[in-house]
Amino acid sequence: MALNIKRPNGVQDITPKNIHKWHTVEKIAKDNAENFGFKEIRIPTFENTNLFMRSVGETTDVVQKEMYTVMAKETKYTLRPEGTAGTIRAMLENGLLNDAMPQKVFYILSCFRHERTQQGRFREFHQFGVEMAGSQLPSADAEVISLANSILNHLGLKNIELYINSIGCPKCRAEYHKALKAFFETRKENLCGTCLSRLEKNPMRILDCKSEICSDIAKDAPIILDYLCNECREHFETLQKYLKNMNIDFKINPKIVRGLDYYTKTVFEFVSSDIGAQSTVCGGGRYDGLIEQLGGKPTPALGFAMGLERIIMVMENQNCDFLQPRTCDLYIVPMDEQAVEKAMTITKKLREYGYWVEYDVVGRTLKAQMKYADKINASFTLVLGENELVSNKAKVKNMKTGEQLELDLDEKFADRFDAICVDNMLGNLDQLIAKDE
Ligand code: ATP
Ligand code: MG
Repeated sequence: MALNIKRPNGVQDITPKNIHKWHTVEKIAKDNAENFGFKEIRIPTFENTNLFMRSVGETTDVVQKEMYTVMAKETKYTLRPEGTAGTIRAMLENGLLNDAMPQKVFYILSCFRHERTQQGRFREFHQFGVEMAGSQLPSADAEVISLANSILNHLGLKNIELYINSIGCPKCRAEYHKALKAFFETRKENLCGTCLSRLEKNPMRILDCKSEICSDIAKDAPIILDYLCNECREHFETLQKYLKNMNIDFKINPKIVRGLDYYTKTVFEFVSSDIGAQSTVCGGGRYDGLIEQLGGKPTPALGFAMGLERIIMVMENQNCDFLQPRTCDLYIVPMDEQAVEKAMTITKKLREYGYWVEYDVVGRTLKAQMKYADKINASFTLVLGENELVSNKAKVKNMKTGEQLELDLDEKFADRFDAICVDNMLGNLDQLIAKDE
């Protein structure tokens, strides 16, 4: 097929064949979040560019290299590269933060970053994320990490490691920045251009540089944990105690600084050992300064975001179970024009009962229609020919067992079909139980 215009590099189509995988991840994430008391929020796809400059940070890769920005009339807009900035903006703008604390929201959205595309790295990708505002206690960190852990467990992911770190508060970070600066200053002839400018403005960003030379130099850099103030150290230690109490395994990784500027204290990543280099399936942490930075009252906050493409990749690699997509309950096979009209009436009624019912609308032969019913995995079929219309009776055929049951095509038909479906469901259940025993 010669298609004139193909999809851009780095974006994907999700076709009906795979949509159940997305539904699985979205449903399990949403159910778990609700069990933790989080409610869904939906925010716009684009925001004023300044929102991201100010929150994500001007020296980050995301802002410096990856944003999709358009100038529309006089104003600069950017497609959201992540969900936190827009969510916090929306919480502020809609007064959520004036309500009882903590405020807990979750979102499912697409993000846009102009990245070098590769396995697990796209230009449009999807995140499930949560934000909790209004608690500075380590128990809030424990809640958020425990939610991420619970989602990944319920999805059936294996070989996932949790790494945690603390990157301190502005107070202890000032000391750390000095130490980092001194360290990189003596090695600056080898740093990449971007990192050279970061050295002045935000030396911690160098630790997040993807260039091989810079990350090699950064290997011996001082680590933030040695510079934490008492409050930050205590917070981090209490969090570790809570995680141990909950039997959530973790490793401390002082190298984790996260790619966005707004983090303070706790940062964490869930990493899979099964999908190659782009292996972080969830990243998050605390951002106690962000709400104030965006114009709100000083309010501590924290959250995480999961990359849904990467999670589905792991699930596919590990043969995890996806929720089974629904299938057609009844496929009606009309043999002539009059039967089509009868099929329409029956279909309408059964759909009112909530059944998935279809009939032939392309004029196939009987044989071809049966083949089609098989292909779409219909549970039952109903052939309507001249005989059936004259006698006003037709046979409902169970496509799995081949069993046929003759039913009157009168006003009670829908009730009878309903009874057959319930019977069938109970039968399937019995089989499942028998198999289990
Ligand atoms: P990475 O180090 O992989 O670039 P990041 O630090 O930029 O990740 P975050 O901004 O924390 O990522 O986003 C949270 C999650 O979103 C990541 O852990 C990952 O699962 C997913 N993610 C980020 N960027 C992409 C992308 N370009 N394509 C697919 N998933 C992504
Ligand atoms: Mg990135």
